[in-house]
Amino acid sequence: MALMGQMMAMPLLISSLIQHAARHSGDTEIVSKRVEGDLHRYTWRDAELRSRKVAQALARFGLEAGDRVATLAWNGYRHLEIYYGASGSQLVCHTINPRLFPEQVAWIANDAQDKVLCFDASFLPLVEKLVSHMPGIKHYVLMTDRAHMPAQTSIPGLLCYEELVEAEDGQYVWPSFDENTASSICYTSGTTGHPKGAVYSHRSSVLHAYGSALPDAMDCSSKDVVLPVVPMFHVNAWGLPYSAAIVGCKLVFPGPHLDGKSLYELFENEGVTFSAGVPTVWLGLLNYVGQNKLKFSTFKRTVIGGSACPPAMLRTLMDDYGVEVIHAWGMTELSPLGTLSKLTAKQLELPVEEQRRILEKQGKVIYGIDMAVIDDEGKPLPWDGASAGNLVVRGSWVIDSYFQQPASPLVEVAGMGTWFPTGDVATIDADGFMQITDRSKDVIKSGGEWISSIDLENIAMAHPGVHEAAAISCAHPKWDERPLLVVVRKPGVELTREEMLAFYEGRIAKWQIPDDVVFVDEIPHTATGKIQKLKLREQFKSHRLPG
Ligand code: AMP
Repeated sequence: MALMGQMMAMPLLISSLIQHAARHSGDTEIVSKRVEGDLHRYTWRDAELRSRKVAQALARFGLEAGDRVATLAWNGYRHLEIYYGASGSQLVCHTINPRLFPEQVAWIANDAQDKVLCFDASFLPLVEKLVSHMPGIKHYVLMTDRAHMPAQTSIPGLLCYEELVEAEDGQYVWPSFDENTASSICYTSGTTGHPKGAVYSHRSSVLHAYGSALPDAMDCSSKDVVLPVVPMFHVNAWGLPYSAAIVGCKLVFPGPHLDGKSLYELFENEGVTFSAGVPTVWLGLLNYVGQNKLKFSTFKRTVIGGSACPPAMLRTLMDDYGVEVIHAWGMTELSPLGTLSKLTAKQLELPVEEQRRILEKQGKVIYGIDMAVIDDEGKPLPWDGASAGNLVVRGSWVIDSYFQQPASPLVEVAGMGTWFPTGDVATIDADGFMQITDRSKDVIKSGGEWISSIDLENIAMAHPGVHEAAAISCAHPKWDERPLLVVVRKPGVELTREEMLAFYEGRIAKWQIPDDVVFVDEIPHTATGKIQKLKLREQFKSHRLPG
């Protein structure tokens, strides 16, 4: 019989993260740009106390363990308190993305059977519009103080967050329970069909926070000043509210102000060293600092993910601003971090150009995640950096099923058990660096060969006149599909179709060069900042390619 370990079985609970931060980094600040317009400062010690008060206030609603407390809120300290107050008291924090269509917001709230909705004042008109469509929500809480409560509202019994918190004494002991209990729910963006809920557990969230803070992942430390640009309504801001508590670093929340100027000022005034966000946010920030000839004085590194980080952006940040870029890949179903691109000691000896090409990849898995690329028959492909296949993953913070969906999303891999199919197409090289070539449904299939839309976009983005670019498939009588490039020019730039196409010469195989270029004022984005390829394909469905 196996000898069992004789160690304490201390459950991995989210409340333990904030307790740790309050005890060991109690004086460290959390700074928030508020919807009310001002800057709010307090400490991890204050945040923990107020999270306990939130737990007490929620308990007065007569909720049962497992009930969902929804939020429609920006990144800020009150949102953080609900993260901890709800999950820590065995309720489930359900962050809803306010950028979704209103009908989708209501659909998600109903699907999750939310009982409470806490929201920032920015979303008052949205919530007023939706109240009659969300019958299950019994308590509405506006995340502000008495002075900022509306004089009139159609929301029945609207409660004031600050009044609820101030009414409590904080004499609350975080309960202990099974670490596999649900802690929070996030819905996938649902580009096809209805969004689906990923239900995280305390255990998976704490393990993800541990893993993602490691030096070869996000490399978080108590000395950092972290500004999560990635919203707390998008996969828990990539877990930063949890990993920041583990290391006890200063947190800076930007609230609703994500434009280049507001972010830059916050970076400089608060001494931000580390940030994380999707490429579109960095486009805005880089435009602002570029136009105003500014430099960053404390900003050292940033994680970029959610969509492929264009190599041109990586180079600008590294070469012009001295900011280390950590390209990361993940998804809602992975809590979200799977891989990050950090150079190994061996790779640091390579010439800079070779290092850059490695950093452009989506990187290596964090311990706790396992990945493979498989062909359409489910057979594993070699790790040679060239064989592109369907990327599958498994691990301690990967979902095994969706909320209330009986069908399992998992697939069998020949001789390797069950895995989660990511829907991404990727290669993995001999050093274990993964590179996404496409979303499987966005890949361009020309005469049976695959053309990576990401490669085409990365080249276009390297052209100085291009603000943003998207490569999509367009129907072709002979080749089935051919690439069409959709481009937004930088303001005031003259760039022709011919110049754009000439830019591809020598940068990619001739047969992969797009057949045509169209210029638009704007490229549509999803609620999480990804290019809406489906919409673009629809828009250019009847586009006639030349020749
Ligand atoms: P979401 O669940 O909304 O976070 O979306 C996850 C999807 O975003 C992934 O399956 C990828 O298709 C895409 N994605 C995330 N990070 C990257 C990246 N660094 N490069 C390319 N695609 C990415």
